[in-house]
Amino acid sequence: MNRDEPGEIEHETRVVQAGRRAEWTQGIVNPPVWRASTILYDSVADLRAAGKRNDRHQLFYGRRGTPTQWSLADALTELEPGAEGTLLFPSGVAAIASVLLAVLSPGDELLLPDSSYDPTRSLGGGLLARMGITTRFYDPMIGAGIAEMIGERTRAIFMESPGSLTFEVQDVPAIVAAARARGIVTLLDNTWATPLLFPAIARGVDYTILACTKYIVGHSDVMLGSVTAGPGRYEALRAATYQLGQCVSPDDAWLGSRGLRTMALRLKAQGAAALQIAQWLKAQPDVARVLHPALPDCPGHDVFVRDFAGGSGLFSFMLEGGDEAARAALIDGLAHFGIGYSWGGFESLALPVDPQHHRSATRWQAQGPLVRLQIGLEAADDLIADLDAGLARFRAAR
Ligand SMILES: *Cc1c(COP(=O)(O)O)cnc(C)c1O
Repeated sequence: MNRDEPGEIEHETRVVQAGRRAEWTQGIVNPPVWRASTILYDSVADLRAAGKRNDRHQLFYGRRGTPTQWSLADALTELEPGAEGTLLFPSGVAAIASVLLAVLSPGDELLLPDSSYDPTRSLGGGLLARMGITTRFYDPMIGAGIAEMIGERTRAIFMESPGSLTFEVQDVPAIVAAARARGIVTLLDNTWATPLLFPAIARGVDYTILACTKYIVGHSDVMLGSVTAGPGRYEALRAATYQLGQCVSPDDAWLGSRGLRTMALRLKAQGAAALQIAQWLKAQPDVARVLHPALPDCPGHDVFVRDFAGGSGLFSFMLEGGDEAARAALIDGLAHFGIGYSWGGFESLALPVDPQHHRSATRWQAQGPLVRLQIGLEAADDLIADLDAGLARFRAAR
């Protein structure tokens, strides 16, 4: 099947078909695992010619990938209308670090939302600071007001929408417009929505980042990241990625492609169950607030309604009073939720989260401790019954 002319098709169709070039599949449904380090050439002349070519679909050396990695990268590009190309990374954090190193130089300033994923914050204060790149944090709800934060040295604006742990939905189009007016590069961590719920490149973002570990892989068993570049942005990313020696194993890429085929279905089911559970939690007296972008309690809810095609399966809720021990009583006894990091898999997870430790530009105000839920593919009614019993334990321990 040739996907050179994708045409106007629905997401569900695209995730099934994307990246499955006939010359790679040879009639097999899934592009197979091509393993390689060395690629052999017929002659010195052929070897030299290969070195001069920079075609992303030509075998050259294992680090530059084989059809297994190209297939997944192409599929992710096809999911972002208007995108120029995608590079894969061994984790979401590697994707974030690599694209920031592709964009920033010593003396530059990076603007990061205060709601950022913690390892992204650490990168700003760590490696980037050592490289002479400064990071300034901004209120994720700043919207068009970002224009006032842009200074002489501002080179890039990073966004994460909704924010990790607290789910503030950012006004990406307003921030992109302000950045464009000043020639500043924009980057978005789009892990929560994926291109199916928020097509970042079409909305004007220069680089969109996915922790493919989450919804692309979908089965909690592979680490993988990607960056998809908008028009005119691919070459800088490719050069930095090659110089940094970033590559992923064909097995991991293959599992990523395999996960992708069911992603639309999983997102729909997990999104619907998450919303049902969020609405149920909102009606519980022990719950002070539910931070789910589809609910009015969530900062940026109006922007979510305007910009997103739907919600995914991750959100937080704030308990009404209580302390860490009462929160632990709720979480520890859950039968259907694992306790652990990450999300986007088929199984539900509950995590105690404390955003007050990860803020500098804004203050986190809370009536009680926060619990983040990743909703999997279990029956929503079972999860609700489990949470109901958990809230009873919380009441008893409070
Ligand atoms: C998990 C996550 C990452 C990092 O991905 P890894 O594959 O775990 O390195 C980045 N951003 C967000 C929003 C995440 O949730």
